[in-house]
Amino acid sequence: MSSVSSPAVASNFLRTIIEKDLAEGRHAQKPWAGRPGPASVQRQGSPDPARIRTRFPPEPNGYLHIGHAKSICLNFGLARDYQGACHLRFDDTNPEKEEEEYVHAIIDMVKWLGFDWQYHNEENLYFASDYFSYMYEFAEALVQSGHAYVDEQSPEEIRVMRGTLTEPGSDSPWRGRPAGESLRLLREMRDGAHPDGSLCLRARIDMRSPNLNMRDPVLYRIRHAEHHRTGRQWCIYPMYSWAHPVEDALEGITHSICTLEFEDQRPFYDWILERLAELGMLLRPLPQQYEFARLNLNYVVTSKRKLLQLVRDGHVSGWDDPRLPTLSGLRRRGYTPSSIRLFCERLGVSKADSRIDYSVLEQALRDDLDPVAARAVAVLDPLKLVITNYPEGQSEPCHAPVNPHDPEAGTRSFPFSRELWIERDDFREDPPKKYFRLFPGNKVRLKYGYIVECTGCVKNAAGEIIEVHAEYLPDTKSGTPGADSVKVKGNITWVSAAHAVAAEIRLYDRLFLEPHPDAGDKDFITALNPDSCKSVQAWLEPGSNAEPGATWQFERLGYFTADLKDSTPRRPVINRAVTLKDSWVQTK
Ligand code: ATP
Ligand code: MG
Repeated sequence: MSSVSSPAVASNFLRTIIEKDLAEGRHAQKPWAGRPGPASVQRQGSPDPARIRTRFPPEPNGYLHIGHAKSICLNFGLARDYQGACHLRFDDTNPEKEEEEYVHAIIDMVKWLGFDWQYHNEENLYFASDYFSYMYEFAEALVQSGHAYVDEQSPEEIRVMRGTLTEPGSDSPWRGRPAGESLRLLREMRDGAHPDGSLCLRARIDMRSPNLNMRDPVLYRIRHAEHHRTGRQWCIYPMYSWAHPVEDALEGITHSICTLEFEDQRPFYDWILERLAELGMLLRPLPQQYEFARLNLNYVVTSKRKLLQLVRDGHVSGWDDPRLPTLSGLRRRGYTPSSIRLFCERLGVSKADSRIDYSVLEQALRDDLDPVAARAVAVLDPLKLVITNYPEGQSEPCHAPVNPHDPEAGTRSFPFSRELWIERDDFREDPPKKYFRLFPGNKVRLKYGYIVECTGCVKNAAGEIIEVHAEYLPDTKSGTPGADSVKVKGNITWVSAAHAVAAEIRLYDRLFLEPHPDAGDKDFITALNPDSCKSVQAWLEPGSNAEPGATWQFERLGYFTADLKDSTPRRPVINRAVTLKDSWVQTK
């Protein structure tokens, strides 16, 4: 984790809690056997050298998105800052939607963000499905001690009997079932003797609790389904609210940080761990759950279900489409791990839900790349400029800094010649007021080259401008003593037509036209931006080596990256990651 810079860390309420716990030595004596397990395993260990343990617990049912990055940066960042360990745990307790493909993609992305799960000699990469036996053992103990019972009501009956926010629930007719009978039925459930939905195991808490989550929540349900790791070994699967606290406790997690929607689950989280500790299955101090506000970003959707819909229905090219807020999409678009960490740092951590504007993410990328990105020239909408007084067949080098903020990055050089490509927008036959670029009779500087005076243009039969003509002023070359002898207001970029490198450039816009595409019960598909990707044939500065992943600031235009999938040095395909300025606001 040393590759991750740790600038002045913004204080947040979680840091306050952790610092207090550390000051009180709350977890200092808790034994850790070096691997997850119940009290019987941990007692063999010695006090955990990790001062805190956090975890990032994705369900492997989709690709990670920018919201997950917030949780990753928070959990791994806290562990790093307090000499602790952060576990990557796959919450794979739901057999139906999970796949191995997602496991690999998640591992890949957490590493890409710059984090790892190594703590001294420990590899803290875990799968909740590895704990199924412990969970089952705990369930039997809960049944034997009267804290759980097997219910025979249908899922629908259970739902109705649960009551509402304003009405208390009512007891199941099976609530008073003797422990021995529940135990026998639980074993039958485990052994596959009952069909899906016919029986379930419930905690015996309080059907009149004002908190619906405390009204005898279901712990185990029957699902005769194939699991991506355990195959057909189990046909009962734990519910998330039961599995999650147990996973945390088995792993010795000290601070279990989750998003706000789990706040109402906290009483059950505490209840279940207390019971298991009383029964001697877990050691104290128990993990504590803390909630923070999830990241909501304007102009995107981050629900995995909705992202899956976009991918499956072909609205985007795949999970790594550069328009998606998935981490693999952002990577392909040109986002760097450090820009995403910077973004998460700027977000801070709070308990109040808020929406973040997409421009905050974009600004983090600009701020990250500006000091380091190599500069180059690209012309995206090319128009020929002919320097009529420059000899045909002649060329000469012009020099420019690789990065003006970093003299050590050196200089680059590219040829000037008689025929150049300029941006179509840099010439106007009839210029509007305050237009300082090329128009007949006006002088501009060709950046890093000469000052030229526009003499006119050539049109085709349809009246379209196909060529601009100009004459250069021989002793005004940038970097020579005469450079400043003529004053001009315009400075335009160009590339030599005979030397330029052809490239396809993909100009992305937001995927959605509305800031809250999925607000309320709106169909977010209707908010898709039909023009979110435009491809242009551009000319690049010669020498631009478009190896996949290569990144530049194209002067005056923005930050660009050679596409990881489609680009080859011979046939560059380049994504615009972000414009230099926040163009979105102006074009709306
Ligand atoms: P989704 O709703 O997209 O399916 P999820 O919360 O179900 O997301 P998980 O795989 O369960 O996805 O999430 C793993 C972790 O990432 C959880 O701890 C969750 O709280 C956190 N997380 C998910 N989305 C966000 C978000 N938008 N902001 C912050 N943390 C998030
Ligand atoms: Mg989830």
